Amino acid sequence: MGYLLDSLLRYGSDQSCPYCGSRSSRPLERKYLVTRLFRCRECDLQYRHPKANAADSLDFYQDDYVQEDGITTELPDATRLRFLVDTGFGEKNVDHYATLFGRMFPDLARGEVRIIDYGCSWGYQGHQFRKHGFQYAGLEVSRRRAAFGREQLGLDIVTSEAELRGGADVFFSSHVIEHLPDPGRMITMGMDLLRPGGYFVAECPNGSEVRRRREPRLTRKAWGMVHPNLISGEFLAGAMADKTFLLTSTPFHDLTAVFDAWGGIGSEVGDLTGSNLLIIAKKS
Ligand SMILES: [Zn+2]
Repeated sequence: MGYLLDSLLRYGSDQSCPYCGSRSSRPLERKYLVTRLFRCRECDLQYRHPKANAADSLDFYQDDYVQEDGITTELPDATRLRFLVDTGFGEKNVDHYATLFGRMFPDLARGEVRIIDYGCSWGYQGHQFRKHGFQYAGLEVSRRRAAFGREQLGLDIVTSEAELRGGADVFFSSHVIEHLPDPGRMITMGMDLLRPGGYFVAECPNGSEVRRRREPRLTRKAWGMVHPNLISGEFLAGAMADKTFLLTSTPFHDLTAVFDAWGGIGSEVGDLTGSNLLIIAKKS
């Protein structure tokens, strides 16, 4: 069924917050008459209504999801893959994260650091992390993209969460949480899959209050059919309130220096005006 027709039919559906279940929320924006962005008064999650549901979402990501950036959902042929490798994967380059993950564990060799990449598509990041020497396991719900990463790139990519092995050093997700019907599940699962001292690292479009005020047209574009959540620093700070975390936004310039300045002790909120939000939370 089409997104707008489905939204129209479900206009009167449950408006409770998909994170905390609160029924106290207020509408912030409206698109196409029948879709609205709500903000939960309890936990600050900004979510689309009608809400995404898990079964439709799983179905959508099998084959219908298309991101027109030439990499996220497009399986490369050999020539294209060669090009991506030679040019460093463009916007999907993870060299700065590789440097950061090395810095997080000064007592471990890179080959001893195990990364879980949650929502890894066909493995364009996994391929880079492995080249940087890390142990890597990815999760991708699209069977087609997961199979490509396994078969063409030789990566360890599973399609169900139950297959992920715990005790990881880093739980990494890049542009995933904004797609999920239940963002809290990813946070809980990510923390559960880490060993004590490990880090939860998530990057996503930035819907923080300061950015919404500064770039209303851009943040308005950042929620809709594909992104049922507009994640903000306010929400993440609340969701991670019982942990020590660092919140910041792009451009990171020297991410390692930012990480060093934080030191993993206490929580710190940096500049939240950039286009992408980054949270790093430490498992105690
Ligand atoms: Zn809530």
